[in-house]
Amino acid sequence: MIYNNKQQLLELLKRENLYTEKRLGQNFLFNTQIIDQILQAADILPTDQIVEVGPGLGLLTQELAQRAKKVTTIELDTKLIPYLEKTFQTQKNLEILHQDVLDSTPPSTSYKVIANIPYYITSPILSHFLQVTPPSIRPTTIVLLVQLEVAQKICARTGDHGVFSLQTQIYAHPEIIAKVSPTNFFPAPKVDSAILKLTIHPEPLVSDPSLFISLIRKAFSMKRKTLLNSLQGWQNLDRPAITALLEKAGIDSNARPQNLQISDFEKICLAAR
Ligand code: SAM
Repeated sequence: MIYNNKQQLLELLKRENLYTEKRLGQNFLFNTQIIDQILQAADILPTDQIVEVGPGLGLLTQELAQRAKKVTTIELDTKLIPYLEKTFQTQKNLEILHQDVLDSTPPSTSYKVIANIPYYITSPILSHFLQVTPPSIRPTTIVLLVQLEVAQKICARTGDHGVFSLQTQIYAHPEIIAKVSPTNFFPAPKVDSAILKLTIHPEPLVSDPSLFISLIRKAFSMKRKTLLNSLQGWQNLDRPAITALLEKAGIDSNARPQNLQISDFEKICLAAR
């Protein structure tokens, strides 16, 4: 282990002349039990290819590289790169990319994404890997440390649905593996965290994911409105056209979007085509 507790992490930062940066979402994990829970959830095989976002000081990176066939780790912070290259110079199955993850190209062969990500780009990171084209380069599994509230939104069921849950669940089955308190990080974030596991569906649950996502964004754009009110303007359709569309789809125009299932929104998409 590169470090085992907060004291050792602070000593490492001092020794390497490094410091944490809030703007990069740098909250370094130091509790190795949480690392173990992430590794267990990811069920890593010696044949696995892994993409890690934001290795930081490399605590999780080291464990991934010791278990998987190949690890590609992507770090944006320039000052961490020489440290990471020095620390992992003998780890031949580890590729360190100095890049913004959102500019990276996912591997063309089967892979898992496993990371303690910067929370400020949780949604763009998920879209980057789930909405990628061609769809064949989606990962098979994603295990992430994210803000607990975001994990709960992603896992929401019918009755509580929102854009986050629907746009994730068309691609993957989400589950919260464990809650993680701020005391496990330095510096401690202001929010609770969670280990979130996404098991990716072989195929998206809807026929046209981009149309589906444009529909749910519109449906949830006006809080507490009925579908008829919020959908006006979607696909340039006026109120009578939306009424006709919902009728064709067999969906109650007074329904609230959070109460609809993926299959209900899919019916509206199919009726619009
Ligand atoms: N994995 C380490 C750990 O668990 O202690 C660090 C996690 S820290 C929450 C997030 C990491 O992501 C930081 O190292 C930060 O520099 C990096 N990062 C921030 N924005 C990034 C981006 N757009 N692309 C790649 N890495 C980024």
